[in-house]
Amino acid sequence: MAFYTNYIPDPFIYKIYEETLNQLNDFFGFKWKENKPKIYVVSNRKTINMLVQEETKRWVVGWPDKKDIFILDRKNYEKESSEPYREVYYKGLIIHELVHSYFSKITKDRYEPMWISEGIARYLAGENNYRKKPKQFSKFLKFYKLRADNEVYHESGHAIKLLVEKYGKNKFVKLIKQLPSVTSKEVFNKLFKKVYGFEANYDNFNRLLNSDSF
Ligand SMILES: [Zn+2]
Repeated sequence: MAFYTNYIPDPFIYKIYEETLNQLNDFFGFKWKENKPKIYVVSNRKTINMLVQEETKRWVVGWPDKKDIFILDRKNYEKESSEPYREVYYKGLIIHELVHSYFSKITKDRYEPMWISEGIARYLAGENNYRKKPKQFSKFLKFYKLRADNEVYHESGHAIKLLVEKYGKNKFVKLIKQLPSVTSKEVFNKLFKKVYGFEANYDNFNRLLNSDSF
């Protein structure tokens, strides 16, 4: 199948893109100079479905493909999705997908565990601010393998926030740099424990959540 694309300078997107790359270079600790991520703006649901080769849910408004990202055109945002359009959400969407680009570059295109890859995208995009932090964690760890499920985002974003703000970004980057050698959930759990010194389970994350500084 064929897709027609046009290069259109878009100062609104370009500004967010430049700011985000600076922010993410700093967070992930390398300067992305060559073959940088490209943003493809997709005009409607039908084209999204053809690109990803499935009938997508209406809340799907962007996705990564290795280092490149696809986002629904903001002009058709409300018509072609279930999401309300607000500039701050759209900016969050672009940042979120670009975090996946960096993640993919570091992990050699591994996105699992999903709670890690979606959690860091949500946290760095500021999307944790859209909803109150959870009182208890009870769901995010079941998202290891990738699947289209809206439920992964909320708890994962807050779980990653705790990891980054409590233990620093370097430890987090150290963890994800080792994901290419992870072959199963069990191997990941061992790696996590080696890096953080505790097991990735609800008890430990709830303890972090309820500790004084948060
Ligand atoms: Zn995502």
